Amino acid sequence: MIIAFHPADCSPALCAFNANMHDRRSGDCSAGMAYRVQYYDLYMALDTLALIHQPGLNKAVFPISGRVDMHLATTGMNQAAIKQRPRSVLDFDAGPQLVIDSLFVDQQQMAFRHHKSRVQVDLESYVRKNVNAPCILTVFFHARLIPAVKPPWEDGVVVSSDDRGRPWIGMTCQTSGASAWWPCMDRLSTEPDSVRLTFDLPQNGTVLVTNGQQAPAERLPDGRMRYRALVSYPINLYNITFNIAHYESFTLPYRDSEGKDQSLEFHMLEGGEEQAKAYFTEAQTMMEGFEQVFGPYAFWRDGYKLVETPYWGMEHQSCVAYGNHLKRNKYGFDFILVHESAHEWWGNAVSACRPHDLWIHEGLATWSESRLLEWRYPDSSLYIDYMVGLRDRIHNKQPVAAKKGTHKRQLDTDVYYKAAWMWHGIRHSMPSKSRFDEALRQFYQQYTYKNLDTRALTNFWCAQLGASYAGIFDHYLYRKHLPVLVCDKIGIDSEGVYTLKTHLRRVSRSFQMGIDFGGGHFIPQSRKKTMVRVRGDLENFSANLQRKYLMDVQLKNH
Ligand SMILES: [Zn+2]
Repeated sequence: MIIAFHPADCSPALCAFNANMHDRRSGDCSAGMAYRVQYYDLYMALDTLALIHQPGLNKAVFPISGRVDMHLATTGMNQAAIKQRPRSVLDFDAGPQLVIDSLFVDQQQMAFRHHKSRVQVDLESYVRKNVNAPCILTVFFHARLIPAVKPPWEDGVVVSSDDRGRPWIGMTCQTSGASAWWPCMDRLSTEPDSVRLTFDLPQNGTVLVTNGQQAPAERLPDGRMRYRALVSYPINLYNITFNIAHYESFTLPYRDSEGKDQSLEFHMLEGGEEQAKAYFTEAQTMMEGFEQVFGPYAFWRDGYKLVETPYWGMEHQSCVAYGNHLKRNKYGFDFILVHESAHEWWGNAVSACRPHDLWIHEGLATWSESRLLEWRYPDSSLYIDYMVGLRDRIHNKQPVAAKKGTHKRQLDTDVYYKAAWMWHGIRHSMPSKSRFDEALRQFYQQYTYKNLDTRALTNFWCAQLGASYAGIFDHYLYRKHLPVLVCDKIGIDSEGVYTLKTHLRRVSRSFQMGIDFGGGHFIPQSRKKTMVRVRGDLENFSANLQRKYLMDVQLKNH
C-alpha cells in the first residue's frame, strides 16, 4: 500500500535532515530499548475553525488529525533479546484520547493493540525477516483534544483569544507528554536526531509558529494554509509545539560568541510589536551573557525564536514560549525570558534521562537567573541577593533527585530552588568561583545534544572537582534535610576575635564541604570539632554563611 503524505511532498531543504547526526546521542539512558526513533516526520491538520465555532470555549474540543512517520533503527544492543521476545516487540505511546486509525511498517499494514497510553504492534513476521534493518513505522490518527485546564502545569492544547476576540492557540505538554497529542516514543531518554513538522490549518488570518527552521507558508488548493519546519537537532519531544494567532514578527540582530551574525526572532500579538522591539533588547544581552558564561548557544541552525503565548512560559526548543506581558522583576530582568531561555542550555542542549532527573534542567536554569545577574552587574550584590530570595522557597520535604519511577507531577519545587542552591553552595566551596565556572563550561560541552542521568552528572563533576564532592552531591540530592553547622563559642580575645568550636550535624562522614567565612577557610566535620577564629559580629558571621551555603547555622553560647 502506498502511504499518503510521503516525504516526497516536501521541499528539498526541509527534507535534508542530516544523516550524519544519527546516533550522536550518548545512549547512556537507552538501555533495554530495542528501537530508537532517529527521525520523526509529523503531519497534522488542525481544525481551528471547528474549535472556534464551539459555543463556550472552556467546553470546546480541538479536532486534529494526522500522520506520523517514525524512522526507526534497532539499537544494536538487544538483537538476541529481540529475537527471543514474543510477538509485540515494538511499542510506542499514544494517549487514550488519540484514536489510531491505521498503522503500517514499511507500508505494510500491521495489527496493533491500543490500551490506555500504549500501543503494541505485532511484529513477529516482520522482525524475523528484517531484524537488522531500519524501518518506518507510520501511524494515522485523529483526536478531539480537550483544552488545558491550567497551562503550563496541567497542560495540553491552550485555547484563548487576543483582546479583539480572535483565536490564540498554543500547545504545551511537558507534564502530559507529546503522546497526549501525537503518537511517538515518549521518553525523555530517547531524543530523535531531527523532526520534520507540517501543520495545515484554515486560512482565517492567523499565523502558525513552530520549532526549527520554518519555511514560508503555502496556500493549498483547498484554501487552507500549510506550515512546514525542520528541527535539525536532537529534541525532547515535549518541546515540540505550535502557536497560532494574529502574530506580528520582527528580528533583532545578534553577533554570537563565535563572531557570526545571527537574528533573534520575536512573534508578538498584533499591536505589540513596537513596544516589544525596544523591550527585547534584553534578549540580546541575555544571549551574550549565557554564551559567555556557559558556552555557545546550541541551536543556531534552527535559530532562536520567542513567541507570545496565552500561558506563562515553556522552554520549547528554538521556539521559547513567552507569556509574561513584558514585565521585569525587581532585579531588573524578565524572569520568563531568562528562565525559559536558560533551558536552551540546561534542558534542551543538556537533557535529563527521566522525569526523576528533571532537577538537572530546573536547578541549573534557576541558578542561571542569578548567574546572569552576576555577569551583568559583577560589582553588585544582586547575584547573592537573588539567591537569598530563593532560599525561603526551599521545602526540604523530599529529596531533590526523586526515586526512580517518580512521575513529573510528584516533583516539588525543590528541583528548582534547592537544586539551584546546591550549585550555589558548591561554587562557594571552591577556592575560586572561576574554577567552578570552567567545570560548568566543560560539563556543557561534554553533554550538549546528550541525555544524562543523576549518576552520570555526579560522576562527571567528581572527576572535575575531586572525589570529595561525592558526599556533597549525595547529601543535597538524596537526603531531604539540610546539614546543621553547630558553632560553639568558647572564647574571645582582647582584640575581639572569637574562638568557635564547630561541627556538623545531620550529615554523613563523607560530607566534606569547604567553607569560606571571609576571614578564612575550613572544612567542618561530623565526627570531630574544628576550631575557627572569627573577627567581628557572630550574627553577621552566621548570616554570611547562610547567604553562601545551604546549611543551617546554630550559634551556641554567644
Ligand atoms: Zn524551568
